[in-house]
Amino acid sequence: MRELITLHVEPKYAGDLKKGYPLVHRDAVIKTDSEKLHEGDWFELVDHFNRFIAKGYHGVQNKGIGWVLSYDENETFEQEFFTKKMNKAFALRSNFFKDSSTTAFRVFNGEGDGIGGVTVDYFDGYYMISWYSEGIYSLREQIITALKETTEFKAIYEKKRFDTKGKYVEQDDFVTGTPGDFPIIVKENDMNFAIDLNDGAMTGIFLDQRDVRRAIRDNYAEGKNMLNTFSYTGAFSVAAALGGANKTTSVDLASRSLGKTIEQFSINGIDFEEQDIKVMDVFHYFKYAIRHELKFDLVVLDPPSFARTKKMTFSTAKDYPKLLKDAIAITEKKGIIVASTNNASFGMKKFKSFIEQAFSETKTKYKIVEQYGLPKDFRATREYPEFHYLKVVFIQKLS
Ligand code: SAH
Repeated sequence: MRELITLHVEPKYAGDLKKGYPLVHRDAVIKTDSEKLHEGDWFELVDHFNRFIAKGYHGVQNKGIGWVLSYDENETFEQEFFTKKMNKAFALRSNFFKDSSTTAFRVFNGEGDGIGGVTVDYFDGYYMISWYSEGIYSLREQIITALKETTEFKAIYEKKRFDTKGKYVEQDDFVTGTPGDFPIIVKENDMNFAIDLNDGAMTGIFLDQRDVRRAIRDNYAEGKNMLNTFSYTGAFSVAAALGGANKTTSVDLASRSLGKTIEQFSINGIDFEEQDIKVMDVFHYFKYAIRHELKFDLVVLDPPSFARTKKMTFSTAKDYPKLLKDAIAITEKKGIIVASTNNASFGMKKFKSFIEQAFSETKTKYKIVEQYGLPKDFRATREYPEFHYLKVVFIQKLS
């Protein structure tokens, strides 16, 4: 049974929550109150004078224990509440739905669209819902109904990403509709990408890098020799090849990446045999490149926030400078390094300090050419940079 629990907010956090900060941090409410909570409970936040601040639901993920959904004391969270939010989110993406050159994008981005803890992505008629806590999953019926009341669809799929470590829960992801015959091919700025919504945690493409892929294709690839590290299905390599790169080299540790990368090249009319696809550890590849005196004009670095192999662990918050130094060593003078991270635990300023550190330690001059954050469909309130997790910097190596 879902309860309504009153949570007393610590004075230090009350100001932000009153101003519209949507996440309730673990330390934001007094402990004896938060101990009463069960996933999916509603809560009412009050300040230390017992004045009402906001209402929301309890769901544990990363740093937070819940999300604010409403500033109306009388809000009862009926179906209409969820349907309205979904309607509004769709209306804000009307230009995406009209654009036939792009058929995959995000239609609902959690707190940016008024309900933290859940996202919905669109893939040419198919929808994929990601649930980030048990609490939000307990609102599954309301949210799926909201989606059904807002749009037509071929089918709906879902990913549960809330086991103890925030990881994907292995399951059949089909929810309702007519099951897709995967892989399906979606378009992104007229590039083709193969997608499978029922094949584990990942779908084949990270939609938040759309603008970066276009920039690489349109402005950075022509005539270039490109290295794509942590390449997954090779989406950046496809963009570079379509932009006229002389050659691309894609490096990923996972053996599944080989077949998936061949597939992405092939559906774009690119002969994969003219490209290099390596299944190997990126850090071994850097050594291999040095041994063979390989250099690249364009190097993409897009590591996972954390990775563990048998021999080492890698964390972007700690090891990004080292990764950049390895990349600098095999980048041609005047070449471009595309440094990307989706780690939400640090911001652009810190990321740029990693860049500064790596170049100064290698005594190399550089220039930041441009930078990217989340694309428009990944709506995130401008006031709170911590929700803008994506940071991508195009750096030119000058010396
Ligand atoms: N850049 C990709 C997404 C990267 S996802 C894109 O644009 O689609 C992270 C990838 O890093 C995964 O495919 C994972 O297999 C790979 N990976 C993690 N650690 C690695 C390592 N040490 N060497 C090579 N690949 C690694």
